[in-house]
Amino acid sequence: MDLGLKGKKALVCAASKGLGRGCAEALAEEGVDLTIASRTKEDIEATAQAIADNAGVSVTPVAADVTTEAGRAAILAACPDPDILVNNAGGPPPGHFKNWTRDDWIAALDANMLCAIDLIQKTIDGMVEKKWGRVINVTSTSVKAPIAILGLSNGARAGLTGFVAGIAREYAKDGVTINNLLPGPFDTDRLKAAFEATAAAQEISIEEAKARSAQSIPVGRLGTPEEFGKACTFLCSQHAGYITGQNLLMDGGQYPGTF
Ligand code: NAP
Repeated sequence: MDLGLKGKKALVCAASKGLGRGCAEALAEEGVDLTIASRTKEDIEATAQAIADNAGVSVTPVAADVTTEAGRAAILAACPDPDILVNNAGGPPPGHFKNWTRDDWIAALDANMLCAIDLIQKTIDGMVEKKWGRVINVTSTSVKAPIAILGLSNGARAGLTGFVAGIAREYAKDGVTINNLLPGPFDTDRLKAAFEATAAAQEISIEEAKARSAQSIPVGRLGTPEEFGKACTFLCSQHAGYITGQNLLMDGGQYPGTF
């Protein structure tokens, strides 16, 4: 299937590793030119080089913190008019709500709600002018099934999801679609710390901790950044123009509900 993306321009945030990198790689394979951003300069530059070498597209790295105004200004200076915007950032730390301060909440809202809204606000007019655009927000299954220790994520990402539900309808007639991808457990650095903690607590290897976790997932394994990226790229494709305002779960069947 030709996804019809050759020559489009994408801005992918938090993309040196993990799910963001999976999205960047899959878009590049379809001939999309990229601007990719994350904080660590060496990592984002190395990822940009690897993707460019592999896919033969133009990849511009930006070392910037997407949760800050200055970081977003640097990212938008490199790519002011993307056809495709993939919003992503690091997830908030786990904890208990009784210990969270206002500053903790503001940091979570900045990272997992407000920075995505700001980037949509600053790029959507360009998409409307072209009568074509795609916005994908990386959120979490915590939006559908809250994870007790990730209350900051549950709250901030639910806020983004509510906002997107409204704005997606408003821009649908302009050829711009806005959808959310909700990852369940994926094999990235984000989960590494959790497996290390489980391994230490249960005196088992990290591989064993991972294997036990995979048993709770109906498909029997963790997801891969590659398959996450492919799903993102399909939602960005010409064929997905009739899909907007949706929340696509990618969790190997872990969410138990009918809908
Ligand atoms: P990851 O493997 O740890 O990768 C995170 C990427 O984001 C890195 O490239 C990192 O690079 C970049 N990054 C982090 N904070 C950033 C910031 N403030 N500004 C710019 N770039 C930033 O994480 P992941 O698993 O791909 O997770 C991506 C998102 O999906 C997170 O919000 C996570 O909570 C969410 N999620 C993940 C899973 C999962 O199972 N993996 C499940 C549900 C939700 P630098 O550190 O160099 O900036």
